[in-house]
Amino acid sequence: MKVLRVKYERNEITKKNKAIEVCFKCSTCSKFCPVTLHVAKYNLEDSFITQLFQAEKPEALNDVWMCCACEKCVITCPQDANPTQVFTNLKEKSYREGLAPLIIYRLVKQLLQEGTVYSLKLTNMTRKRAGVKEVKKNEKAVKELNVLAEKVGLERKEDN
Ligand code: SF4
Ligand code: SF4
Repeated sequence: MKVLRVKYERNEITKKNKAIEVCFKCSTCSKFCPVTLHVAKYNLEDSFITQLFQAEKPEALNDVWMCCACEKCVITCPQDANPTQVFTNLKEKSYREGLAPLIIYRLVKQLLQEGTVYSLKLTNMTRKRAGVKEVKKNEKAVKELNVLAEKVGLERKEDN
């Protein structure tokens, strides 16, 4: 995975995520977080989520896209802090600033062009081999997705 340098000020994130101020660093969330459990550089003493919450200048947090938004941290947190939301905000910021992995921009572009994150051409080649009816582009859905994308600032970015 591409390593990112996401620059943000702690205040910017706490402003958007008041709930994280009640985090008392119990590590309950980290016991279930797949990133901490499966990425060698993290462990329960130095977990993925705690690194974010403890960093004064969290540009050190460069793996934000490893969060798969499974929300296990949300379900298990006794304080109703919301680590997933923090990571979502960081992902949005990194996307806006052009720091997201290239695949993310490609998926968004594909989605806004054809209404699916998988290429219709490739999908239909597979379906043809399997003897299944082809799927067609849903023009109405694509139009609606583009309207939504424009409203939330998810403009289409061309590949670098
Ligand atoms: S986010 Fe919740 S579960 Fe995780 S360390 Fe903070 S208080 Fe504990
Ligand atoms: S939502 Fe992200 S931070 Fe929370 S448990 Fe899942 S991978 Fe970890």
